[in-house]
Amino acid sequence: PLAALKDPTLLKTDSLIGGEWTGSARRFAVNDPATGLTLAQVANLDAAHARTALERANKAWGAWRSKPAKERSAVLMKWFQLLMANADDLARIMTAEQGKPLAEARGEVTYGASFIEWFAEEARRVYGETIPSTDNNKRFLVIKQPVGVCAAITPWNFPIAMITRKVAPALAAGCPVVIKPAEQTPLSALAVAELAQRAGMPAGVLNVITADSDNSIEVGKVLCESDLVRHLSFTGSTEVGRILMRQCAPTIKKLSLELGGNAPFIVFDDADIDSAVEGALVSKYRNAGQTCVCANRLYVQDGVYDAFVAKLAARAKSIKVGNGFDDGVTQGPLIDDNALAKVEQHVADALAKGAKLVTGGHKSGARFYEPTVLANATSEMLCAREETFGPVAPVFRFKTEDEAIALANDTEFGLASYFYSRDVGRIFRVGEALEYGMVGINTGLISTAEVPFGGVKQSGLGREGSHHGIEDYVEVKYLCLGDI
Ligand code: ADP
Repeated sequence: PLAALKDPTLLKTDSLIGGEWTGSARRFAVNDPATGLTLAQVANLDAAHARTALERANKAWGAWRSKPAKERSAVLMKWFQLLMANADDLARIMTAEQGKPLAEARGEVTYGASFIEWFAEEARRVYGETIPSTDNNKRFLVIKQPVGVCAAITPWNFPIAMITRKVAPALAAGCPVVIKPAEQTPLSALAVAELAQRAGMPAGVLNVITADSDNSIEVGKVLCESDLVRHLSFTGSTEVGRILMRQCAPTIKKLSLELGGNAPFIVFDDADIDSAVEGALVSKYRNAGQTCVCANRLYVQDGVYDAFVAKLAARAKSIKVGNGFDDGVTQGPLIDDNALAKVEQHVADALAKGAKLVTGGHKSGARFYEPTVLANATSEMLCAREETFGPVAPVFRFKTEDEAIALANDTEFGLASYFYSRDVGRIFRVGEALEYGMVGINTGLISTAEVPFGGVKQSGLGREGSHHGIEDYVEVKYLCLGDI
């Protein structure tokens, strides 16, 4: 699939350190999840490379932070434009290594690029404050300065957007970055880094370290333990988030964590049912169910339960599963065999505990799984407690609003939640009662660069996107001026 790139020079297989493409005799295979075929052999870097990258980033910091914000903004703006101009090729690379349908990959390129555009604009608005003084002889000022070298460890489900959402605010604030992309999807990261080079990013300001799953652990350790790194941003599983947080403790690093979710999707009796079905469809089956904000548990009120299940199953059947490059395909493969095994385990467990299979329930080729709807789901099932990360919709029945809120909040996670209602009082009550960082009301799609993305409880720390998203990358400094 990569032979069709308009610009084959976007296909990079070495890492980027200090402005130089850096190879290694050791390589690892990047595979197409749809076919299992190897797409490329990518440089497998290690701890020593990571240390070099951090030193190069640290060296580049002074000049980058001293540039007027408008100049950093101009580099980011150029980078944004290059992503948009190369969107077709970036989408092809993404579909090849990640599996999502080409149209969805194109959507992610636009979404990912939008964070660069947004933070290029925000770069110029990192305002300080003056605080009314308590003493006529003193003046109080607050300035915001870049935190320092930043590290970003990113997942495979959004190979571009999860990088730009972290890297753009860091760069805008005046921080250099070292990125460790997921081992499944390094080609998208490297293509985006090549475009940063073309946009005029100074050497050392943006570095990418590629590594396989074993080396990622040692590279991750260096990023966490180094004194040079002042901020670590991670998107991935809660389990790995805990490891990284522990590793960062000795150096008291600033942390941004976007971890797992277990999103409830509640449909009340008074909802517009057709709209709720469409919302559930995009929230559940997008990216084959492999997003941390995908609806994981669907709670539907008694009065509309049967109608909702029937309509959702009918719509799920219309999803076309296949290779993301094929025309009309709306759901690609799961990322790997482990992902498929987890989906199969959740479905088998639910069926053994009394769920009813309404549609789907089988794999349809190597890493492909049919869009599935399970009725009569209960709290005892694995799918109620763990993120399935696949195209399976378990539908739970509830009777009262209080019961729905209690069920929705009964989890250690708190990333995204959704509910459908037309009652304005209920919209406020439920919106405020859900213990989540994000609440979609009468919609299944909530993400955009302008809004704060993030979770509460064990779903993470910090917010990405919006004007809040740059705050993690600056330190607040208080200047007390005496002797006036
Ligand atoms: P997922 O379950 O989505 O694959 P992970 O949390 O396992 O998510 O991985 C997300 C990112 O974290 C990837 O870039 C992966 O290489 C990296 N990673 C996984 N385990 C570790 C670890 N122990 N230390 C550092 N990075 C890790």
